[in-house]
Amino acid sequence: MQIARRIQQIATSQSLATAARCKALQKQGVDMIDMSLGEPDQDTPSFIKNAAQQAIADNWSHYGPVAGIASLRQAIAAHQNAVNGNAIEWTAEDVIVSVGAKAAIFNAIQTIINDGDEVIIPTPSWVSYGEMVKLAGGKVITVPTTSEENYCLTAEQLRAAITDRTRLLILCSPNNPTGTIYSDTRLDELVDVLRAYPEINILSDEIYNGLTYGTSARTWAYYTDFAERLILVNGVSKTYAMTGYRIGWSMCRSSMFTTACTRLQSQQFTCATMIAQKAAEAALMGEQDSVERLRADFEERRNLICRLAREVKGWRFVEPQGAFYLFPDITGLLGKKYASYELRTADDVAEYLLAEAHVAVVSGSAFGAPSCIRLSFAINNEAIVEAIRRIKQALQ
Ligand code: PLP
Repeated sequence: MQIARRIQQIATSQSLATAARCKALQKQGVDMIDMSLGEPDQDTPSFIKNAAQQAIADNWSHYGPVAGIASLRQAIAAHQNAVNGNAIEWTAEDVIVSVGAKAAIFNAIQTIINDGDEVIIPTPSWVSYGEMVKLAGGKVITVPTTSEENYCLTAEQLRAAITDRTRLLILCSPNNPTGTIYSDTRLDELVDVLRAYPEINILSDEIYNGLTYGTSARTWAYYTDFAERLILVNGVSKTYAMTGYRIGWSMCRSSMFTTACTRLQSQQFTCATMIAQKAAEAALMGEQDSVERLRADFEERRNLICRLAREVKGWRFVEPQGAFYLFPDITGLLGKKYASYELRTADDVAEYLLAEAHVAVVSGSAFGAPSCIRLSFAINNEAIVEAIRRIKQALQ
């Protein structure tokens, strides 16, 4: 069968591929620890599950409005306004509910990017942005950031990357894979640069903004003069442990964007699953104690993994301030030989840890950071302790 060229040019999600390999080894009876996944291991809170069951009982089983159920869009706008403080005042009309933040980002890119338009993506970055831009015919302009800069784009780097073809900047804070957060000052500096380029839109992926540890992440909605060119993305996957419900959204004050993006969605999946939308509404409208419990759980794990990981020789890392990933730089391991394994790249390190330590981690090459690996600490404390023990032993 012929496979379209545009599909041939995109990569498979490496984190999903690693997780699949880990599962296959587990099936063969290998005692694996899976640190490859980007999802909370905790269960969805009971009141949200009850809302989903109630939605089934109440027959929320028909097609719904393309951009989402009105009450959910209202709940999202109200929720985001509460996060914003004194910033862009969102309304339900600004919200498009999609099948996870992933679909929201995909659709946003499809809606605004033409062939040859340039999209600036600071790396390390989430695996999917670049592939999505390619699928839209856009040109990916990656800008490598450094651990010295907390893996955040600098104003000078941004200025140097902008050309007359630049149409979009994608930022993610707290970041996957680095766990770092843009400081308010750094955002101010980027905003100062972008004010001179009204044709450049900003896609701010704030999916991890509920999971921060001591430092909060300023939302881009703070910059009210960017209202017409900001696409803010969020969802319930991470903060409410609802990855499988597949509910995320984009928000934009430009009705040109929301109209066009809704048109795209109408020809695509009609609407996100109604039952999941009702569950997401319950999550946003209900008590938020479960969010704090989840966050506190991750903070404890973050502290544990950082303490233990400092004892591993050959890597160094910036402490994550949010999300649930540790992203060590493994340059110190490259060139070393362990049994029959020669570690030349981060891919080799990930492969070695998978095969010998039975710990699944994702190579940084997937995130545009070929000297790093990503360990998800969305696993329990015992598993974290055992995983780092195995890694330490394997790298002795
Ligand atoms: N953005 C980032 C940075 C992510 O890490 C993920 C998931 O891993 C997503 C977006 C997509 O989230 P979802 O589609 O589950 O809402």
